[in-house]
Amino acid sequence: MVPIKGFIENSLIEWEGKIASIIFLPICNFRCPYCHAPHLVQTHNELESIPVDVIINKIRQNIDWLDGVVVTGGEPTSHRNLDALLKLLKDTGIGVRLDTNGTNPEILQHLITRNLVDCIAMDIKAPLLKEKYEQISGVSCNIEEIKESIRIIMGSGIEYEFRTTVCPTQLDGNDIEDIARSIKGAKRYIIQSFKPNHCLDTRMLDIKPYPDEKLKYFAFTAGRYVEYCCVRGESKNNIGRDW
Ligand code: SF4
Repeated sequence: MVPIKGFIENSLIEWEGKIASIIFLPICNFRCPYCHAPHLVQTHNELESIPVDVIINKIRQNIDWLDGVVVTGGEPTSHRNLDALLKLLKDTGIGVRLDTNGTNPEILQHLITRNLVDCIAMDIKAPLLKEKYEQISGVSCNIEEIKESIRIIMGSGIEYEFRTTVCPTQLDGNDIEDIARSIKGAKRYIIQSFKPNHCLDTRMLDIKPYPDEKLKYFAFTAGRYVEYCCVRGESKNNIGRDW
């Protein structure tokens, strides 16, 4: 079974409009400098695993008021038997969202085909250019896999969102517009502010995030290419009004 390294019983903010549990899986093939989960990416062997039965029992106990469970990481698709975990979760009757960096399109297709996910949230780290993507993910990247994941998700018919963490030293407004153009017609694109705390690369801690108004402007620009775009934590009605 996939090792589970963290569990939050309920969250009102993780899956918009839903009360959701969160399951954290270790290991990631990326090394994003701003990553807030270095314990899951670099030092996961030091963390105790939580037995899956404990989590399944908890979800069953809460099933009357719980809407869903978010499986995040790390990068969940790093685990070859992820489908077995998702099947256990689906068998409780709960909705399942998977968070991913989009580097394993074959696994995403497999999970969608088997109806093991109700929603996918995929990070798009940068414009779909190899050099830029590698700069932000911190590792060598196959951009074709990222593009394939985007294609699979947009054609899946299930709920989805794409999202980008925006740090001033990495991405500017043109980059965000490039990303939005590459997911033209997408249902939902979320801009997230970089936050200088618990970063994998401690040099990121000194970087000041973009002001809110700037992020809203980025979302306004990106919103011309997708059905819905906002800054995480902002309502739809604010987009493009306050900058
Ligand atoms: S932020 Fe980057 S390094 Fe951290 S879990 Fe996500 S993809 Fe992996």
